[in-house]
Amino acid sequence: MRVGIIGAGQLGRMLALAGIPLGMRFTFVDPGEAPCAAALGQHLCADYDDREALARLAAECDFVTFEFENVPADAVTDAGLALRPGPQALAAAQERAAEKTLFERIGIPVAPWRAVDSQADLEQAVADLGLPLIAKTRRLGYDGKGQQRIRDDEDAGGLFDAMGAVPLLVERLVDFDTELSIVGCRAASGEIAVYPLARNRHEGGILVRSENAQFSNELQRQAVRHLRTLAAELDYVGTLAIEFFVCGELLLGNEFAPRVHNTGHWSIDSGGVCQFENHLRAVCDLPLGRGDLQRPAGMLNLIGEMPRAEPLLATGDTFLHDYDKPPRPGRKLGHVTAIAADHRQLERRLDALEATLRDAGSSSRDDA
Ligand code: AMP
Repeated sequence: MRVGIIGAGQLGRMLALAGIPLGMRFTFVDPGEAPCAAALGQHLCADYDDREALARLAAECDFVTFEFENVPADAVTDAGLALRPGPQALAAAQERAAEKTLFERIGIPVAPWRAVDSQADLEQAVADLGLPLIAKTRRLGYDGKGQQRIRDDEDAGGLFDAMGAVPLLVERLVDFDTELSIVGCRAASGEIAVYPLARNRHEGGILVRSENAQFSNELQRQAVRHLRTLAAELDYVGTLAIEFFVCGELLLGNEFAPRVHNTGHWSIDSGGVCQFENHLRAVCDLPLGRGDLQRPAGMLNLIGEMPRAEPLLATGDTFLHDYDKPPRPGRKLGHVTAIAADHRQLERRLDALEATLRDAGSSSRDDA
């Protein structure tokens, strides 16, 4: 069976690593010269919306999916690709105003927001919503890029032009208790495998730590309900994730990703069928594996530079994933997973790993 994947970054790489044992072969479309998934399949070096490359995927692959959501939805529709998940999910996730409108329509609460298309709109949003706010580009934002906080009128002055005079979404800055995500995988039949919830920490808009944690029954019920509602609404096939802000006993939807997600990477090592394999099973019409067989697990992203492997692996209950990408400040280069017998032990293990990483960072700076 040959699976086409649009994009050949680390998510494509981890998809292939999960699919190869099932006998799958992979063709990637990616404009990079040597993207990190290319080692695991055939690489068509072309833009994501390149007609010829997409036509080859349509002709040569049994199933086609994608690893990032900024694939132009029109291009894949025009190319006649039987894409899973479908273009409807892509279109909703690509534009933040469409995403928030969808959340509201299906009953997922969100922070108060406004679509902003001019400086006058921005000032009106400040008057309507109050401060502090956060402004985000409506398209192409990721890992905290294309975001600005607005704490006072001075921050708001000239901000529309400073952010590139592109369509924005401005929303209330939420004073959340923590961030939580849910990852699940839906088959074409409507069956869903749901993974344990993750508590997440972002710094500068980038995910640094994601771990299974105990949440109240009420929060769990809300997260699972929202996941099921969204997946059904989009007639979704594959893995998806929703990120929430936790405010007391209420979840506010921040965004969703129509793909495998960084806050589910620990599922590779936690014992059951991981988010990557389940995505491929759904896309290729194979039965799903359960999402609830996992041991408590969590992971730290390795960002900007790869640390030495030895100290991270020293405890015997950790797993290292090196994406084989050239280092660059702010770039996700790998992750390290810890597993544990319970959530408290997991927290301690991840705290210790964070300390190891900090030490590794300061000693490599001392060496420099
Ligand atoms: P996003 O690209 O929307 O996922 O934002 C990246 C991160 O920025 C989130 O995970 C939060 O840590 C932070 N952030 C985004 N929007 C808000 C908000 N309305 N209030 C508080 N923090 C936010």
